[in-house]
Amino acid sequence: MMTHRIYFDNSATTPVRKEVVDEIMPFLTELGGNPSSRHWEGRVVRTAVEQAREKVAAALNADPAEIYFNSCASEGNNTVLRGYMLGLGKNAKKNHIITTSVEHPSIFNTAAALEKEGFEVTYLPVDGKGNLNLDDLRNAIKENTGLISTMFVNNEIGNIYPVEEIGKIAREHNILFHVDAVQAVGKIHVDVKKIGCDFLTVSAHKFYGLKGVGALFVKRGRVLKNLLTGGHQEKGKRPGTENVVGIIGMGKAIELAVAELDDEAKRVAALRDHLEQRVLAEIPYTRVVGDPSHRVPTLSNISFRFVEGEGILLKLDTEGIAVSTGSACSSSDLKASHVIMALNGDPEEAHSSIRFSLGKHSTLEDVDYTVDTLKSTISLLRSFSPIYDEFVNADKH
Ligand code: PLP
Repeated sequence: MMTHRIYFDNSATTPVRKEVVDEIMPFLTELGGNPSSRHWEGRVVRTAVEQAREKVAAALNADPAEIYFNSCASEGNNTVLRGYMLGLGKNAKKNHIITTSVEHPSIFNTAAALEKEGFEVTYLPVDGKGNLNLDDLRNAIKENTGLISTMFVNNEIGNIYPVEEIGKIAREHNILFHVDAVQAVGKIHVDVKKIGCDFLTVSAHKFYGLKGVGALFVKRGRVLKNLLTGGHQEKGKRPGTENVVGIIGMGKAIELAVAELDDEAKRVAALRDHLEQRVLAEIPYTRVVGDPSHRVPTLSNISFRFVEGEGILLKLDTEGIAVSTGSACSSSDLKASHVIMALNGDPEEAHSSIRFSLGKHSTLEDVDYTVDTLKSTISLLRSFSPIYDEFVNADKH
């Protein structure tokens, strides 16, 4: 048996909830038909898949016919950006995309790849708190702008972006609007009609569903060129036999996430605020990264001056606590997070920040144990830091 672990990395992924496991179990054990088959075994599964589609649609205030299941949000984001580009063909007039400098790599890197293929991309800047200035958006719009793609909630700092206002600007200029809502579902209400978007991406594993299944909202009448060719699944827009258990689990997970949202948001926000207040009060030289007044309730990103986030992460891990860093770490290099660098270009902040993302299993005891452990961890790591030493001694003179 695993010893008790504290999981504060719910923005990376969430564990599958029990109700979802119960919902999918019959489809793992007994009901194994292909939803495209016309016999009883197929029809039972088809019915369950369509019920899940209705649940996802209801959660987003969409029509079930506007929901397309796929493998993940990275696929959804690629489908929108690349599908839009492919749809333009050779004589692309509307070949300018506007996005932001704080997107997830599935948008950021896809936009960069499209630039190499001849598309024009504008990456809107953010201010020191990670917020967008809508005048920058208005000024970036040109004759050839065809698509705006922004996230609803930032995955590293938790900022909520003004998608309704962006949607309004997009409509005024006849520009298509895509929203990456991966980090929003289950944390704040997501309503495609209110937002007024043409496309919206979600992913089940961020709200206690399974990994490897997502959904893309495509407003009725909007067309994206397929990335894949194949069979007739998902009305021919996304060929491949459906991830049946993933889809059925996603329906259950989103239904519960939305039903519980208001109460759960209050509960988790109180825990997050308690964590943040204690850290800021009890550990010197700490700072919240992002905008505390426009944030999802689950997330706090804090920088701990004079220490490497990776060091904090590894030490906390040995103490039974899972968090993540603001730096994207690969084995060969430690690259500063492009999101935190976009805020103020400060590599020290980018390297010393930790993302705490709480979830439905988080408790007050978890938070207090984490802050207590952090206090000793930070003073230990700072005791090894020559820069901290220099700073403290300079203070004395
Ligand atoms: N968009 C955002 C904002 C995310 O946070 C993530 C995952 O972390 C993704 C897209 C990609 O999701 P998936 O893992 O389903 O590809």
